[in-house]
Amino acid sequence: MSDVDLLVIGAGAAGLAAARMAVAAGRSVRVLEARGRIGGRAHTDSTTLGAPFDLGATWLHDAEHNPLVPLARALGITLHDSDARRQELTFIGTRRATPAELEEYEAAWTRFERVVREAAGAPGPDRPVAEVIPRGGPWDATVAAWQGHVIAAWPLEAMSLHDFAATLLGGGNLVPEGGLGALLARLGEGLPVTTGARVERLRWGGVEAVAEGGFGSLRARAVICTLPTNLLAAEAVRFDPPLPPAVQQAAQDLPLGHAIKLGLRAAGADRLGLPDNASTDRQVAEGEQLVPLNFWPGGRPLAFAWIGGPLAAELEREGPAAAEALVRAEIAARLGHGAPAAFAPGALVSAWGADPLSQGVYSHARVGGAGARAVLAAPLAGGRLAFAGEACHASLAGTVGGAWLSGEAAARAALQALG
Ligand SMILES: Cc1cc2nc3c(=O)[nH]c(=O)nc-3n(C[C@H](O)[C@H](O)[C@H](O)COP(=O)(O)OP(=O)(O)OC[C@H]3O[C@@H](n4cnc5c(N)ncnc54)[C@H](O)[C@@H]3O)c2cc1C
Repeated sequence: MSDVDLLVIGAGAAGLAAARMAVAAGRSVRVLEARGRIGGRAHTDSTTLGAPFDLGATWLHDAEHNPLVPLARALGITLHDSDARRQELTFIGTRRATPAELEEYEAAWTRFERVVREAAGAPGPDRPVAEVIPRGGPWDATVAAWQGHVIAAWPLEAMSLHDFAATLLGGGNLVPEGGLGALLARLGEGLPVTTGARVERLRWGGVEAVAEGGFGSLRARAVICTLPTNLLAAEAVRFDPPLPPAVQQAAQDLPLGHAIKLGLRAAGADRLGLPDNASTDRQVAEGEQLVPLNFWPGGRPLAFAWIGGPLAAELEREGPAAAEALVRAEIAARLGHGAPAAFAPGALVSAWGADPLSQGVYSHARVGGAGARAVLAAPLAGGRLAFAGEACHASLAGTVGGAWLSGEAAARAALQALG
């Protein structure tokens, strides 16, 4: 491999964005990616369920500010309005919630977000999100389960209030036809990526940096590193000299949560009386696991479930059959004992926690760690070493859009350093 101006470590959203910007600026670039594919935590399986299924990222959140929205449109990819087509069905036990109950549910969502924002805006030290949230109302535990285990993929007890409030998502949600992983694969086409190249060591102290691994070695004048924070914290790449203690601490303060995405294929024509894009949840008590179930997304003959938080980590250890059994029990509890038979045996089950190249799904900040994203995003060595990735974005953390924007920010710093 020949020497380059810019080395990018990792070909996920952040790495692809950085590489595209540096290539467009006329720089020589090399992206080293440990996996045999690009896209990182955005990956579409197009074969197993007979239709595209995103094992990782699915939605383009905050569509009005998401840099991938115009890029997808420029490629001619249809973007479906997920909010407009979603048919929400909420259960209390086996019955559907009444309109009056749904109004209360809606009010509980609004109250949760207001209380969290007010508490985060009040003077005083950081504290766990769980300390400030509304409790005692009939829907408070359900909203908390959504906001914690489901959306943030970890319990609110272990999460920084200040960071949580700063990263609450707003805006529309779009789904690219063919999958979000497939969109990233398209956006990476033609970039100078070497797959199967895991960086094991980075010497970065001098005028040039040198990356080493099974691929050999590569010299670069600037480096952008997009490793997920769990890998940085575990020192999966050895930095020589070691990273400043504040950067190491920032990686420790931004651990990844856990979640399983599980897809089931319809066994036949039975659609269980549910409309396309049926998005179901149920009222839960405090401490009870909430498993959202989505049926017939985009009219495709499949369903998918989301299991978030520590239970996901536990089920990953037990294996895919354990997760499938839990999801089939949830389907039966909501739709009746015969309902699971509408799905063929066997499920497509993600395993991001067990994956050595991600070790989780996306980052949250530990209590007291709300400043960590800014520390991690600040370039080192005058911009010649920068970190990028979802964990580095102040407001869109945990998303593909945030990862993309942070990759572009790191590329701007590197281009400036290169002169
Ligand atoms: C189940 C799940 C659902 C999600 N849902 C959504 C969603 O709906 N919408 C949304 O916006 N976001 C979602 N996300 C989050 C989104 O996927 C991530 O925020 C985003 O993809 C992260 O991009 P990244 O570039 O920061 O990291 P990554 O995509 O993890 O990229 C880092 C890359 O570095 C590579 N790498 C690691 N170590 C090395 C090494 N030593 N040498 C070389 N390469 C290395 C990895 O293989 C990887 O490709 C979801 C994530 C998961 C897992």
